[in-house]
Amino acid sequence: MIVAIDGPSGSGKSSVAREVARRCGLTYLDTGAMYRSVAYLCLERGVDPEDDARTAEVARAARIEFSGEGGRRVVADGEDVTEAIRTAEVERAVSPVSANPAVREAMVAQQRRVGETGDVVAEGRDIGTVVFPGADVKVFLTASPEARARRRAVQRQGGDLARGREVAVDARAERAILDDLVRRDAYDSSREASPLRPADDAARIDSSEMGFDEVVDAIVALSPELAARAGEARA
Ligand code: C5P
Repeated sequence: MIVAIDGPSGSGKSSVAREVARRCGLTYLDTGAMYRSVAYLCLERGVDPEDDARTAEVARAARIEFSGEGGRRVVADGEDVTEAIRTAEVERAVSPVSANPAVREAMVAQQRRVGETGDVVAEGRDIGTVVFPGADVKVFLTASPEARARRRAVQRQGGDLARGREVAVDARAERAILDDLVRRDAYDSSREASPLRPADDAARIDSSEMGFDEVVDAIVALSPELAARAGEARA
């Protein structure tokens, strides 16, 4: 079965999707990590992220794999890039790279190949609309920009609001994160190629006021098959 989880940056998609996959015995696919990997490879090779022809070449040749427990490690062309793709530099380069239709075509083809192997929870911006329009379960997960910025800021300091681990954050750092989220949302929503938008048949969940487990439970409860899988995995 295929579960599609889309939503803006910082909505908690990644941790939620990973947990749904773990509970239900499905494979987790982080498509944002794939676009980040292409952006990283471009920067490494001195390719301008705005140069559509050359970034497309990088994307078409890139071998992006997930390894380790729960597919947490990201390997691009043989190099472990798990941490390297989370830098501010990559974050700046990923918007133009992911707005390039030829890059998207290459990534979507890879993502569909993973989907063909069977049971997947895929997370991104266009999973329910473009990559797997026939997904069994579709979720559009969002939260207010302020709630998302706060979570990211706390996370960067080693805390985790969803799990009640609060840490002090610098107001200026939080503001910078908020500005970056708003910028990326605007870019992702207004681009011509696969803009961020909910699929018509997606369940919309606003997690601003919800805890982590509450969100995961709400998603699992959307489908009897998912709920049964979660039950079986626990038994
Ligand atoms: O989800 P994450 O923040 O890791 O994604 C990084 C970037 O990759 C996003 O800002 C977006 O531009 C792009 N992306 C995309 N389509 C996806 C997943 C991510 O365009 N399916």
